[in-house]
Amino acid sequence: MKIESQLDSLGKQGLLRRRRVADTPCGPQMTIDSKPMLTFASNDYLGLAADPRLIEAAAEGARRWGVGAGASHLLGGHFQHEEELERRLAAFVGAERALLFSTGYMANIGVVTSLAGRGDSVFSDRLNHASLIDAVRLSLAESHRYPHADMAALGRMLGESYADNKLIVTDSVFSMDGDIADLPKILEWAEQFDARVIVDDAHAFGVLGPHGQGSAAHFGLPLSKRLIVMGTLGKAAGVAGAFVAGDDDTIEWLLQTARTAIFTTATPPLLASALLTSIGLLEGADDRRDHLRRLIARLRAGLEPLCARSDWKLPLSETPIQPVVIGGNHETLAVSDALTARGIWVPAIRPPTVPQGAARLRISLSAAHSEAQVDQLIAALADIAT
Ligand SMILES: *Cc1c(COP(=O)(O)O)cnc(C)c1O
Repeated sequence: MKIESQLDSLGKQGLLRRRRVADTPCGPQMTIDSKPMLTFASNDYLGLAADPRLIEAAAEGARRWGVGAGASHLLGGHFQHEEELERRLAAFVGAERALLFSTGYMANIGVVTSLAGRGDSVFSDRLNHASLIDAVRLSLAESHRYPHADMAALGRMLGESYADNKLIVTDSVFSMDGDIADLPKILEWAEQFDARVIVDDAHAFGVLGPHGQGSAAHFGLPLSKRLIVMGTLGKAAGVAGAFVAGDDDTIEWLLQTARTAIFTTATPPLLASALLTSIGLLEGADDRRDHLRRLIARLRAGLEPLCARSDWKLPLSETPIQPVVIGGNHETLAVSDALTARGIWVPAIRPPTVPQGAARLRISLSAAHSEAQVDQLIAALADIAT
């Protein structure tokens, strides 16, 4: 592989990515590349990332616990308040036990490779997050990918499988589309074919379900031996990290075998201090979730007529992730750039993050946005579309 010509080719296809540099904290108004911007780019759904109460908890945590964990959780880098955080998280999502990981990416790698291996079969939605796709590859299990949200196909694949150990893995809220997986049907298939289900709640934890308890609670499904959940703590929870929650035996097995938890230095213990405060805030944030739902409805009501008279598509989504599918890479970049010129930042998402020909603007809303800011985005897009 010639790196120079590969880079050149990425550029020609409109696929080069570029980091923008912020010099203010995460929020609706940021200074990005030295310009003030209204942003719709973060996954900080409840507006907690720069909350003064979390800043104070993190500072207090640093004073109490220091900065570095010093070692992995198993080798002395596991602290009192992290035990408490795991208990809080398990109770919050209604599981027997939870285990902390440093990131959601690592949690997915850890949980899938611990629960599936050579000779086993994993069934995954085609639009699953990259971390789940990588996890399945690393597990060496046989991989079966069903078309996005195609429950009949999933049932067929399960029915044709002779594997003793079957695992279904799915995003609950799909990260680039915002739609919600049909968990009740997935669980029904899992029961019928004796499979287990791992659900990735990265975009559901703190957002969906009563008090933000996540996708299982949203559907009224209890967590069990069959249904375990991975939740991330860097999105709605506003901090960093992740956890896997499930029954006692499964979590003990992860503690013994999940390599991404075992062979890595634990995250700074001050993060758990911030997270204990964050979980309390998140649980009590029904008003923020109500505001967020109103913003979602307002944005869709504004964009629907606009998409109806252009080639843009607004797929169904009841979550804060609202994609406007434009199609071509260059076209999508041009719209994103036109927004940037108007002081609004909405990222252009291109392959391989989304399928070829399905490049899109990924608008993500936060409870920290105001109705006026959403209106500003709608007006700018209307202006660009005409
Ligand atoms: C963000 C994300 C992850 C990874 O979580 P991090 O904590 O950011 O590593 C996993 N799954 C999905 C669906 C995500 O959107």
